[in-house]
Amino acid sequence: LGGSISRALQQMSNATIIDEKVLNECLNEISRALLQADVQFKMVRDMQTNIKKIVNLDDLAAGHNKRKIIQQAIFNELCKMLDPGKPSFTPKKGKTSIVMFVGLQGSGKTTTCTKYAYYHQKKGWKPALVCADTFRAGAFDQLKQNATKAKIPFYGSYMESDPVKIAAEGVERFKKENCDLIIVDTSGRHKQEAALFEEMRQVSEATKPDLVIFVMDSSIGQAAFDQAQAFKQSVAVGAVIVTKMDGHAKGGGALSAVAATKSPVIFIGTGEHMDEFEVFDVKPFVSRLLGMGDWSGFMDKIHEVVPMDQQPELLQKLTEGNFTLRIMYEQFQNILKMGPIGQVFSMIPGFSAELMPKGREKESQARIKRFMTIMDSMTNEELDSSNPKLLNESRILRIARGSGRPVREVEEMLEEYKRLAKVWSKMKGLKIPKKDAEANW
Ligand code: GDP
Ligand code: MG
Repeated sequence: LGGSISRALQQMSNATIIDEKVLNECLNEISRALLQADVQFKMVRDMQTNIKKIVNLDDLAAGHNKRKIIQQAIFNELCKMLDPGKPSFTPKKGKTSIVMFVGLQGSGKTTTCTKYAYYHQKKGWKPALVCADTFRAGAFDQLKQNATKAKIPFYGSYMESDPVKIAAEGVERFKKENCDLIIVDTSGRHKQEAALFEEMRQVSEATKPDLVIFVMDSSIGQAAFDQAQAFKQSVAVGAVIVTKMDGHAKGGGALSAVAATKSPVIFIGTGEHMDEFEVFDVKPFVSRLLGMGDWSGFMDKIHEVVPMDQQPELLQKLTEGNFTLRIMYEQFQNILKMGPIGQVFSMIPGFSAELMPKGREKESQARIKRFMTIMDSMTNEELDSSNPKLLNESRILRIARGSGRPVREVEEMLEEYKRLAKVWSKMKGLKIPKKDAEANW
């Protein structure tokens, strides 16, 4: 995909006169690529029309940066398509919210319910899970297993076959227990049968959810729009979660889901495990859709702010992909200094928003310093290993004692390490654009 778009733009820059014909050819090529990424046909056509309105042919003819202009226009247009114009209902900690999950069978609802609960639990919420799927054999067992693993209270029944009754009972119980996030998992059948939608409506009626989340498998292709629309017509969908983004799908269906439900994507699922769950971020997502790689902006920044002589070493570390605790320590130092490299690292998705949220810099800095104090009590072997399994219970205890910090904090630091290691691993094998990015998309 990235290849064909760069080819399209290459053709464009080779043409001596940028007339409408060339722009059209270029847009057609990019459109084909977007269709391959499962963006809906109609949306691609709309995007084409808009780009033609935005991109001024005279500017293109005169300027040197034709490619940048078109690239930026397409990028912005796709970002706009992912923005429904209003945020979704956001639950508030300490206040009871009921969130209902809907979607076809196999889309990842049950898995995502647990991820969503776990994500909030880690931030100090009191979530609970209700299994209102009485259709699929083993549905309750699956939820129970997930919930137990994450130590999240759950409710369900092997005997009761009425999902509406279970949902209502579960929500009632957890309201009494003062849970602040009551999550209702529903059944989804293979097809968009009338019975499924009726059941969903009844569960919704009985539980009065504050938010209904539509869960969509990223690999469903062009079917995304109709599917999302069918759900929206039956229940008040207010947000979307796209799952299985760790697979091959580029996720163009997300644009359809946003258009069909008029709701934002709030998270993406990136694996089967509980912590493979990310806050949805429009720009990296669109980069991926265009095959630009999530890191293009980041690389530009490196060239811009890192002194030339430090670039090779830094880039080598990045692309080797072995993230050790020592590298994390060094990056923490950089972030605290906020020197040029610190700035760069604060741009990496994952490093930035999660580690140092805007407006909470002081808190975050204190947290990073605590982590560094803990790491000061680690051995060289521990710091240079990229295998977190090395740190067994007795080592954790030793490090906690040595640094005078609680075991819980050592574990928290290791969780942060695992999270950042995952971000880092995406850089492995990364092709680094030359400083003169003209030759690269
Ligand atoms: P449900 O029928 O909608 O409840 O779907 P499940 O939660 O049972 O998920 C169906 C399958 O998809 C399971 O094997 C999950 O492990 C898997 N799954 C869910 N989310 C993801 C994801 O983000 N990535 C990957 N690779 N697998 C996922
Ligand atoms: Mg399920």
